[in-house]
Amino acid sequence: MDREEKITILKNAKQKVLNSLTTPRNSKATYKGSCLCKAVQFQVQGRLVPPDACHCTNCRKQSGHFFVSTDILRSALSTQGTDTITWYQSSEKVKRGFCSICGSLLFWDAIDSDHMGIAMGAFDLPTHTKIVAHIFTDYQGDYYEINDDIPKIPD
Ligand SMILES: [Zn+2]
Ligand SMILES: [Zn+2]
Repeated sequence: MDREEKITILKNAKQKVLNSLTTPRNSKATYKGSCLCKAVQFQVQGRLVPPDACHCTNCRKQSGHFFVSTDILRSALSTQGTDTITWYQSSEKVKRGFCSICGSLLFWDAIDSDHMGIAMGAFDLPTHTKIVAHIFTDYQGDYYEINDDIPKIPD
């Protein structure tokens, strides 16, 4: 699947998700979250971009299954307990942040980008969003099927 094709699929899927949401779309919304032990807490300003579910090996290894995260502008995030976050650099351009007390995976940060990912599981409910796509499904585990009608991007 080439880049154009992927972008088109994602764009269409995102529009579909956005159309299906019946919930607040105003940019003044604040979404809060934390790790399991609550030593790390965060707030995101503005509504949450529809997340994707990443089935790549790194995400599976670190999260314990596949990893669902939303993409936010770094400047929209404020964090408390940053001293407790451990950053693991998983590839040349990506570091992953987790709570060093309870182990919750929280952040996926692309170095050189003003955007970063936040684990959807860390958010308090409701999140007012829905998964838009499964990505890197060529690398998914062999112990589950993806049976929903959400688009799949193989690589
Ligand atoms: Zn914690
Ligand atoms: Zn991944």
